[in-house]
Parts: sequence; C-alpha cells; structure tokens
Amino acid sequence: MEQSPLYIRVHPQDNVAIVVNDGGLPEGAVFADGLVLRERVPQGHKVALADLAENEAVVRYNVVIGYALKVLPKGSWINEHVIRMPEPPGLEDLPIATRAAPDMPALEGFTFEGYRNADGSVGSRNILAITTTVQCVSGVVEHAVARIKAELLPRYPNVDDVVGLEHTYGCGVAIDAPDAMVPIRTVRNISLNPNFGGEVMIVSLGCEKLQPERLMPVGTIPIATAGDNSNGDVVVLQDNAHVGFQSMIDSIMRTATHHLERLNRRRRETCPAADLVIGVQCGGSDAFSGLTANPAVGFATDLLVRAGATVMFSEVTEVRDGVDQLTSRAANAEVAQAIIREMQWYDTYLKRGGADRSANTTPGNKKGGLSNIVEKAMGSIIKSGNSAISGVLSPGEKVKQKGLIFAATPASDFICGTLQVAAGINLHVFTTGRGTPYSLAEVPVIKVATRSDLARRWHDLMDIDAGRIATGDATIEDVGWELFRLMLDVASGRKQTCAEHLKLHNALTLFNPAPVT
Ligand code: CA
Repeated sequence: MEQSPLYIRVHPQDNVAIVVNDGGLPEGAVFADGLVLRERVPQGHKVALADLAENEAVVRYNVVIGYALKVLPKGSWINEHVIRMPEPPGLEDLPIATRAAPDMPALEGFTFEGYRNADGSVGSRNILAITTTVQCVSGVVEHAVARIKAELLPRYPNVDDVVGLEHTYGCGVAIDAPDAMVPIRTVRNISLNPNFGGEVMIVSLGCEKLQPERLMPVGTIPIATAGDNSNGDVVVLQDNAHVGFQSMIDSIMRTATHHLERLNRRRRETCPAADLVIGVQCGGSDAFSGLTANPAVGFATDLLVRAGATVMFSEVTEVRDGVDQLTSRAANAEVAQAIIREMQWYDTYLKRGGADRSANTTPGNKKGGLSNIVEKAMGSIIKSGNSAISGVLSPGEKVKQKGLIFAATPASDFICGTLQVAAGINLHVFTTGRGTPYSLAEVPVIKVATRSDLARRWHDLMDIDAGRIATGDATIEDVGWELFRLMLDVASGRKQTCAEHLKLHNALTLFNPAPVT
C-alpha cells in the first residue's frame, strides 16, 4: 500500500524533520500540512521545515546539530554537505548532578529463570569458557573446542555451549605500559562473566608476556594451579608433559571434563528481574535509530532500572556531544566527575591518534540520514532512558552496582560488546538501522531493527521491529514492553535470539590503547 508523505519532527523547536516513507519521497511530494519537497529526499533524511538563512542553526532533538552552509529554503534536503558541524562541548563548567531523578515507581513481580552463581551473579546461559593468555594458542584451542563439542558436550545436556575466549593480546605488547591494564583486566573479567558459572580454565603457551599468574592473580580467581597441570585449571602447551599435539588436546579435554561435570549439575532457578545485567548498544545506525529503536530501548532501560536491574550504556564518541545531559543526570558529583574523567581520557586518546569524535560516523550512517556525530549522538544517548546515572566503569572493569551505569567503551560494535561482556552483562541489546548480523557467543544478543523495511528483509536476523513506531502501528511504550518481556524470555532460555538460532557470532575484540612492541 502506498503510504502518503509522512515526516517525524522530534521536538517542537526543531526546524528539520525526518522523511519516514520507504524509498524516500520525490520532488514535489506534499505533506499533510502543505509542506512541499523542493527536491528528492531519501528515507530517514531531513527536510527543512522552515527557510534557513546562511549560518542559521539546524535543530533536531532541540539540539543544534549544525549550521546551514548556504540559504536553505523550506522543503530542502538537509544533509552533511549543506551543514557545518558544531564544536564539541567543553568539559569545564558542566552541570553537575543538577537534574532531580525522575519519580519512577518500583516495578515488582517480574522474574526470569537463571543460573545463580556462588558470587550472587546470575547467568542466562550455562557455558564452558576456555580462557587464553595469548593468541599463539588459538589454533589449538579452536581444535580442542571442536572436539569437546563433538565428543564431550553430548554427555552434559545441561551445558549450552563451549567457547574459546580467543583474542589477539598476550605477547609482543608493552605489558608494563599503564594502559595495558585495559586489555589484561578485560580478559580476566570476561572469564568471570556470569554465564560461565565461575568455572575458569586457562590455556597458556608458556613463554608469553601475559603469564597465567598475571592474568589471574592468586587469591582473586577460583582456579587450581597444580604443579602437574593435568590436575589444575591451567594447561600450558610448552609443559614438558606434552609430547606432540595430541597430548595438548588430551590435556585440554581432560581439564574441560572436570568443569563440564560441575556445570552440568547447575539448574535454572527463579530470579528477580533485578538480577539482569543488560548491555545496550547500537551499530549501523540511521536517522530512525533515535526515533524508534533507541527510544524503545530507553523505555525498557527505565523499566529495568525500576525493577532493580543493572543496565549499562557505552560508546564514548556517541555520547560525547551530549556530555552535559549525562553530567546533569549523574546521581551525585562523584559520578559526574567520573563521566568527565572518561570523556577527557578518550579525547586525549583520539587526539594522540590525530583524530576527533567526527571520525565516528560511517558512510552508512550518512546514507541513513545521519549528517554528523552530533546528530548520531543525540539519537544514541536515548538508549539510556531517563533514570539517574548511578555509576561509571572504565574500559574492562567489572560492574559492582545496580541501576543505570555508564560503561566507557569505544563505539566499535565488537569492542564495545567485548567490554560489556567483561563488565558482566548476562544479556545484550543491540539496535541497528542499516542492519548488521553482529552477535556474541558468550551472551545472547537481542537485535532491534529501527525500520520495518529492514525487519522484513532480515526477518530471520532481527528479533524486534521498532519501525512500527515510525509508521504509527505501535508506540514507544508498546515496543519497550515487548523488548522487556523478550529479555525475560531470552534470559530464561525459553526463547533463543535469531543469532543464537543461526549460531552466528563475532570474535571478541580487545581494546588495547597501550603500545605493541
Ligand atoms: Ca556501536
């Protein structure tokens, strides 16, 4: 059915709006209010609602996303070629914890079936993870994982999967550089993710810089390091006991067996929704991200916080332009200062590489209607809902508190996902407008499409269609509740995500801001 010309304006003060119609609209298209397009405008792109003078502010989300480079009459197509990006907001004189936390009643009575761990955390899946200290062992671990899946896993029906925690770190790196703590604690904390049940086993090469004791300091991690590695949780490939490849595989499989036996005895039990630890992220964003999927995620974020759960949002460059919104929403001055500290660190990191936040936007973002990082950030930040921000994590740190958390990470999908796994998420929510098959092996990933066209074409890859919000077929609240309920079902193992069903996942990707040697 041909839809009549439709645009969405986010805020009454905005002087641009987004074209909703699939395929965009031609020159001369007339909207219900009489606005006429002066040129063709693609779907998701902006149309001027008023005549804009040269240098006049272009306003979306009630935020200046750019300045007109020339006179732009009403009905013009507003894209990255006709606007200039504003300077980034400074990190001084920001509003500090000025916004009173919105009055949101506690949400009670929602539960899921999860795997309770000894440390109180709860897993949504029951997975044997094999930690690695260095990239050198990856091929051997991959081989061992295939053997474990084929030969051992069928004997342990309560174990969902076996995952090799492979990465490119561990040697050839400046391991004493201050920033090396980021990749090291990331690998350590990933192995402690609630979905792995505290069953840590490590495969080490032997001569690498990242020695097992350095990765897992004694006394902090529940691993056995028996002198004879066949009885401990650490398999060292260079150990004299290993004669040939097959003996290495035998050692890994023997060690895995002890852990599989314990994991197999675990059972799901009823847990309050407060035990959910959700990471939210967006990737392959378009102009609908901030209209449909991200507002729905934001609504679900508020539901989760009301239920006492932990929700983390991340992606420094995608919130940097809205830093004032974050510092004002901080629960206290300490949290606000921590937000500023993380932004400052990232500004310095980008500057060292001769870049700034504008390096974030992709050709696909622009094709999808996002003119620059300011517009992208305003749409991205909405995932965090309206709750007060109760805590901040540096990259690779593990979350220790409830509520809404800003987990500082790069916006790179796989790096952000990896760092959120390290932070301890038991479920991941990912919104996309352009479409990405991204997923993780360690934690289920629920994918939310920003447009119905994408949800239709990628019907077996997208878990939720938030595009119905743009067409008026559902409200933000409807989709937010749908997502919240789906989270409980997926966390309980009652439902698999599309990516789980297809066994799709991306490799873990560490953030290493320190030098390599
Ligand atoms: Ca991302």
